[in-house]
This record gives sequence, structure tokens and C-alpha cells, in this order.
Amino acid sequence: SDHRLDYPTRPEDMDWTRFFPQYTSSDDKKQLVKPVTIADVGCGYGGLLVQLAPLFPDNLIMGMEIRVQVTEYVEDRIFALRSQNLDKANKLYQNVSVMRGNAMKFLPNFYHRAQLEKMFFCFPDPHFKNRKHKARIITNTLLSEYAYVLKDGGIIYTITDVLDLHEWMVKHLDYHPLFERLTKEEEAQDVCVETMMNATEEGQKVSRNKGSKYVACYRRLPNPEL
Ligand code: SAM
Repeated sequence: SDHRLDYPTRPEDMDWTRFFPQYTSSDDKKQLVKPVTIADVGCGYGGLLVQLAPLFPDNLIMGMEIRVQVTEYVEDRIFALRSQNLDKANKLYQNVSVMRGNAMKFLPNFYHRAQLEKMFFCFPDPHFKNRKHKARIITNTLLSEYAYVLKDGGIIYTITDVLDLHEWMVKHLDYHPLFERLTKEEEAQDVCVETMMNATEEGQKVSRNKGSKYVACYRRLPNPEL
């Protein structure tokens, strides 16, 4: 439970260098040369993370996963990929990492306001129907937190095989004043959409079972002027 989770009081207190050692600043050994800008929420076994890493070599990409053993699996997976690529000039996979955490509770402890460019929610809430509303990963309250950590123009990507959950996420994102849905054309032009359709372990399982995948992507709008 949460009292066993490690989280900083505020983003300034977070030591990111243990996740991205190759990006440690030479001036301040506790700081990175640049912040994390892509987050995979509930990353599971890390399939999306390892596909995004070479696609976005200039971004730092962080997975968050609540299950200890799954997080450790992804850690090992990334370490292995890093060491296989160490001798190569481009040093692949140094820009991706994973941490254990509860994304429904502590995101603003880790990320500054307007820090993130992209947030992924891939096949969240498999037990959607049995969950109480408050326990869902997309709610009005949580959307306001996601809007807080996303920069203007940043994008939330959602995908699920559960139609009821898709409709729930669309309803809440449509209703929220700080989000606007991408058009089908915009989705088609965004490499992340294609990637999240096929990269994750859950998505691959759905494909094997010939299930449907429902996508909805939303842009973070600027705060309205007061
Ligand atoms: N995104 C991955 C994929 O598509 O393969 C995993 C999908 S899996 C069905 C949902 C994942 O979200 C699980 O690994 C679960 O442990 C994780 N999860 C659930 N609630 C979470 C939370 N509050 N914070 C972080 N991870 C969470």
C-alpha cells in the first residue's frame, strides 16, 4: 500500500539521476541536463516504453507502475537493452526508465507544472466495471492533475479494449475545459497512436484475441484568461 511507496514532497526533491545516469548534469550531480517529458502511466511490462525510446531519442521517458514485480521486470528489461547498446555511438535506451508508484496519488510530487509533453494511458482499469468511480484512473479530479503536469499543447493518449471504459474516458475528457479531442486526421498523423496500438503487451494480447481497440487522444488547452 501507499505507505510503502517512496515519493518526494515536491519535484525539486526528486533524484532523477539514478533513473537516467547518462543525463546527469556535470555542474550539479543531483540534477539532470533536461527533465522527463513523456510518461507512461501504468506501463505494465514496458512494451510501449522500449518502442518510444528510439522514436524519441531527445526526450526522457518514464514509466510508472504500481506492481513491484512488474516494475522490477521492466527495470531489468531496460538495463539489458542499455547494456546491449553501450558500445554503440547513440547509446540507445538511456532515455527511458521506470519507477514504482501510484499515478493516481503522487504525480504532482514528481512533475512540475507544465513539465510533460505526452502522457499515455494504455489499457488501464481492466476491472473497470467492478470499480468504484473514485478508483478510476480518469476522473474529473485526476484530469485536473494531469492538466497541471501537462504543458499547453501536450497530449493525453488513451487506448482500451473495454468500450464502457472508452466511453467513460471520452465523456470525462470531453467535459473537462482544459482538454480538446484530436481529430481522426490528427490521430492518423501522430506516430504515437500507431505505436500505442501495437507496442504494449496488453495491446498484443487484444490483437491475438481479435478484440477491438478504442483510441481517444486529447490536447491540453491553455488555461482560460481570468
Ligand atoms: N499499459 C500496459 C499495457 O498496455 O500492456 C499495462 C496494462 S495493465 C492492464 C494496467 C497496468 O496499470 C497494470 O500493470 C497495473 O499494475 C497498473 N496500474 C494500475 N493502477 C495504477 C496506478 N494507480 N499507478 C500506476 N500503475 C497502475
